[in-house]
Amino acid sequence: MSISRREFLAGGAVAGAGLMAGLPATAAEEAKKEPKAVLKISSQEGVIPGRDLPEKLAKMDAWGIEGLEVGGGGLPGRVTEIQNALKNSNVRVSAICAGFRGVPISHDEAVRKEFVASAKEILAAAGELGSTGLIVVPAFNGQTELGHVEGRKVLVDLLPELGEFAVQHKTRILLEPLNRGEAWFLRLLADAAAICRDVGHAGVMMMGDFYHMAKEETSDLGAFISAGKYLHHVHLASRTRKLPGQDERSFVEGFKGLKMIGYQDYCSFECGVEGDRDVEIPKSVKFLREQWEMAQV
Ligand code: MG
Repeated sequence: MSISRREFLAGGAVAGAGLMAGLPATAAEEAKKEPKAVLKISSQEGVIPGRDLPEKLAKMDAWGIEGLEVGGGGLPGRVTEIQNALKNSNVRVSAICAGFRGVPISHDEAVRKEFVASAKEILAAAGELGSTGLIVVPAFNGQTELGHVEGRKVLVDLLPELGEFAVQHKTRILLEPLNRGEAWFLRLLADAAAICRDVGHAGVMMMGDFYHMAKEETSDLGAFISAGKYLHHVHLASRTRKLPGQDERSFVEGFKGLKMIGYQDYCSFECGVEGDRDVEIPKSVKFLREQWEMAQV
């Protein structure tokens, strides 16, 4: 018999009830307050078929996709267009995907400064759109000559200023771990969470990507639990970076982790599509909802 953490702490499970007497009342109270996790499916703009944004949003509404992830490149010039399109839709902006200039942990200070200035422009637009945050990869392979020790120090020193700017604009920085083929510097969700902890700013948070996680993590469940309160966005893709359900990649263990941390943000398609998008995307949404149901905690 499996006992969920929430039931155990709340004393709802038979086996847990006897142990509750020894737990402080506040622990049980805290567990009751923990929000129930939600599966809010989002998609990057480019994944959805359609002539323009209004046509894409109409399809997303019909398919039960609640979030729109847009690129950060040129975003300040698109705020009005996106706000107007969203007026006729239930879809809301989820995360903003990169699009900045410069490199956060470049060995060249001028390139780091270019990143900070550019990220601020995008963060201001992200805030106007009510976005959960701007996705940032500290350095792709080959973008910095700094070693990992020095690179980490540079990053932890640089992020508080951006975090403060982000919070002022009601949004966040979201660090994204990738796989070693793309970015050795940041590969594991636990490592991203430790950077967020060391920065210690509400505007500096992180995300996870199922495609990269399949290559790097030993456990999707463990990775999301390690990310915990720092996790504010998730990318959805199969093992071969197609739509979830288009290969054997399971999302159940990861979804268990999201449920255990009471995840409230979006899970967003960042992937290719095999076949007709109008047919395959709704199939993938259905597949994900089934995987979410199978994730019993
Ligand atoms: Mg990603």
